[in-house]
Amino acid sequence: MADRDLLRALRQAVGAEHVLTAVEDRLCHSHDATFRDALPDLVVSPGSTAEVAAVVRLAAAHRVPLTPRGAASGLSGGAVPLHGGIALSLTRLDRILAIDVAGRRAVVEPGVVTAAQAAAAWEAGLFYPPDPASARMSTVGGNVAECAGGPRGLKYGVTRDYVLALEVVLPDGTVAEVGDPLDGEGCGPDWAMLLVGSEGTLGIVTRITLRLVGRPAAQRTALAIFDRLDDAAAAVSATIAAGVVPTTLELMDGATLRAVEAYLHAGLPTDAEAALLVELDGTPGAVEAQLRQVDEAFRRQGARDVQVAGSPADVERLWRARRAISAACGQLNPTKISEDATVPRSRVPALVREVGEIARRHGVKMVVFGHAGDGNLHPNVLTNRDDPAEMERAEAAIGDLFAAALALGGTLSGEHGIGCMKAPWLERELGAAGMALGRGVKEALDPAGLLNPGKMFTFGAAPVAPPREPGQTGWHAA
Ligand SMILES: Cc1cc2nc3c(=O)[nH]c(=O)nc-3n(C[C@H](O)[C@H](O)[C@H](O)COP(=O)(O)OP(=O)(O)OC[C@H]3O[C@@H](n4cnc5c(N)ncnc54)[C@H](O)[C@@H]3O)c2cc1C
Repeated sequence: MADRDLLRALRQAVGAEHVLTAVEDRLCHSHDATFRDALPDLVVSPGSTAEVAAVVRLAAAHRVPLTPRGAASGLSGGAVPLHGGIALSLTRLDRILAIDVAGRRAVVEPGVVTAAQAAAAWEAGLFYPPDPASARMSTVGGNVAECAGGPRGLKYGVTRDYVLALEVVLPDGTVAEVGDPLDGEGCGPDWAMLLVGSEGTLGIVTRITLRLVGRPAAQRTALAIFDRLDDAAAAVSATIAAGVVPTTLELMDGATLRAVEAYLHAGLPTDAEAALLVELDGTPGAVEAQLRQVDEAFRRQGARDVQVAGSPADVERLWRARRAISAACGQLNPTKISEDATVPRSRVPALVREVGEIARRHGVKMVVFGHAGDGNLHPNVLTNRDDPAEMERAEAAIGDLFAAALALGGTLSGEHGIGCMKAPWLERELGAAGMALGRGVKEALDPAGLLNPGKMFTFGAAPVAPPREPGQTGWHAA
């Protein structure tokens, strides 16, 4: 069949209005939240699992690459259609199908916005802990594909810990139900875990059964200011060593504080080297006792001020700074490269020091913030993609950052995934055997290599289909 026939078949499968070929629509689907972009040949938005499967079968029959995407808030280039072909938008699959209070489960479609899912669980008296900072835009499907984490990861874990079962469309169009919907009663390997974090390279998630937990009865929030970054990093370890596991333990370095203050004018200290935002939850008595322990540990490590929120408005005020970081950094420089190199908690001070040295060595602007409680830091390079010399220095700094994280016993990515942005470094972390395993699984499930090509284990592989130019293909003329 010619491309014109494919286009006709796609329109039949999902409805003509859900197949977009105009260049402005393709541009809107050419990027994620990184600076990487690539134009898809067309954008297809199926409205059901059957439609997803039909699109996958058509793509397979025509050997057309297919890149799934949710809200495109990804920070590793995962949803960028590197090899062109179809950008498969899952955002029409946006129904919350069930909140099962007795079974403590939610069943949702992949295009549901993370915060909407969490709010529905909360209204039903339950709690969905994973809370990526992007929760108001990211989708649950994207969270599953990236195994998203967030500030609450320290106490509650990451998306993987809440996925019970998945419905998935495999690269040949088969629809499979995988996982353990009965939470501990299933048989055989838990194949859902193979899909979590596979970044849209092994299958397209079309329905998700999530574990929910009980709502915490009480919550307290505090912000501590430190004159020395090393003291703040040491306070993180001291808190955990004191036997307290906060829900959240977020670090902001001095450069981050100054960027946020310039943006918000919220009265943040611009002379401090660091701040720690801590949140505790549990029973009221336990939370108050833990708050006293944290306060003591922070002050012992040199905190010059510990502000405890006394009202919901206060909580909001303390969180405002953390939530404004991305926007504030964006105001300083046009391009913000957000990394999530993660190290064992005890090595947080060492990584923070390394970041300062790397920034100085390469003459680039870097800030550090992130989920310090679980060692998941976000060193960000603030740069300008239109300045090639500066971008070269930024790339070199990022290479050194990854090398430092691995040398400290850490990982390239604590939560943002590998995509294409970190793929060149993946072998350094996994080794040759790990790469061979990853490639073997990919080849077994997707021998034609059509699903999200150029990411993770297929980075650098030859294009799976000849490049197509608009006008030559018949798609855009049809
Ligand atoms: C300001 C900001 C803050 C952020 N904070 C955090 C944070 O705290 N923690 C964190 O973990 N991440 C964070 N992120 C990164 C990002 O939001 C997460 O990776 C999120 O999970 C991506 O969801 P998405 O719907 O935008 O997915 P997309 O970016 O659209 O896609 C991400 C990947 O998932 C695949 N994919 C999407 N949907 C499906 C599906 N249904 N089936 C199969 N594959 C699919 C895509 O192919 C791609 O590889 C942040 C991003 C921004 C911009």
